[in-house]
Amino acid sequence: MATEAKTHWIEEELAALREQGLYTNIRVIESPMDGWVTIDGRRVLNFCANNYLGLANHPRLREAAKRAIDEYGVGPAAVRTIAGTTDLHTKLEQRLAEFKHVEAAITFQSGFNANLATIPALVGRGDVIFSDRLNHASIIDGCRLSRAQIVAYEHNDPDDLRRKIAETEITGRALIVTDGVFSMDGDIAPLPELYEIASEHGFLLMVDDAHGEGVLGEGGRGIVDHFDLHGKVDIEVGTMSKAFGVVGGVVAGNKTIIEWLRQRGRPFLFSSAMTLPDVGACLAAIDLLEESTELVDRLWSNAAYFKEHMNGLGFDTGATETPIIPVMLGEATLAQQFSKRLFEEGVFAMAIGYPTVPQGKARIRVMNTAAHTQDDLDRGLEAFEKVGRELGVIG
Ligand SMILES: *Cc1c(COP(=O)(O)O)cnc(C)c1O
Repeated sequence: MATEAKTHWIEEELAALREQGLYTNIRVIESPMDGWVTIDGRRVLNFCANNYLGLANHPRLREAAKRAIDEYGVGPAAVRTIAGTTDLHTKLEQRLAEFKHVEAAITFQSGFNANLATIPALVGRGDVIFSDRLNHASIIDGCRLSRAQIVAYEHNDPDDLRRKIAETEITGRALIVTDGVFSMDGDIAPLPELYEIASEHGFLLMVDDAHGEGVLGEGGRGIVDHFDLHGKVDIEVGTMSKAFGVVGGVVAGNKTIIEWLRQRGRPFLFSSAMTLPDVGACLAAIDLLEESTELVDRLWSNAAYFKEHMNGLGFDTGATETPIIPVMLGEATLAQQFSKRLFEEGVFAMAIGYPTVPQGKARIRVMNTAAHTQDDLDRGLEAFEKVGRELGVIG
């Protein structure tokens, strides 16, 4: 049987996605990732990237990556348990642990892999995971891989978590896991309450701080620092693919758990490490964060300015408490149309629809960064106002 005959159903599914406004067209960027990017030969304002601090194209990170290549070459050439690991990798782990004020840290190729490594290493068949209903896909997949029973509690609702715990028969270990900052709404997990519940019951507590790393806490030290819960949250997963401007994942916390992940984290044992230029660039990102809070401060003031003016124009920006600014539009087709018109006005801001957000809750997610000037933000606001009036979203 020819492949085409077996993939007919995929073509039908793809056609349905296009019809519903849910097909993702990936833009091709012809320049470095920065506050402005070149797409189809045009300079457009970039409101899409998780490049919170503008580090993806920062001269210090570029230099550090080149230096790492000069000293160490490019790739790790095998998994670390077999081929060994460079002292640059171990240095990054030490620096991350110090930066985050934890006992130890281990790096992975990505934040996604960090979750796939960690959850199945901590719980398994016969155990229970209590997971926020809106947790990131990589947490959900990590939970599924573990084969533990998964109990979803209502989003950011400690009372519902208590109810779910009371209703669940627990014979083995239990883990409470949550995103730190929820990436599509920008709201923050009630970590102090979750910590209280976890410690009452003796459950493990894990937070995935992908959108809090480099953003929340003193100088970007993350959600645990933000809530001053040092030594209380057992596992902090993070990513170096967002505010750090590079790519890579990290698990930080208790040293026994980190040691265990070096023995039993499957993406650690069976997939090669971060590349050397990535590691070098991440070290430079930590240097910058430790030297000054300037970039973190600018990120927050930019986001506050943009949000205030968007609300003033009449846009609904949901429940965000962080620099993530969702512009709620409702129907996926409207969000796509809005994004297309913004692009024509010189603003790159993607529409986000199901399954990334619930049906009927499509939006444009605006990501301001420290790389944007006030002038940039004003240009963006003008475009939103123009398109918003044209499409009848604001009056
Ligand atoms: C982005 C994100 C990840 C994935 O991080 P990568 O380093 O890009 O793999 C994991 N968890 C959460 C909550 C995220 O927002």
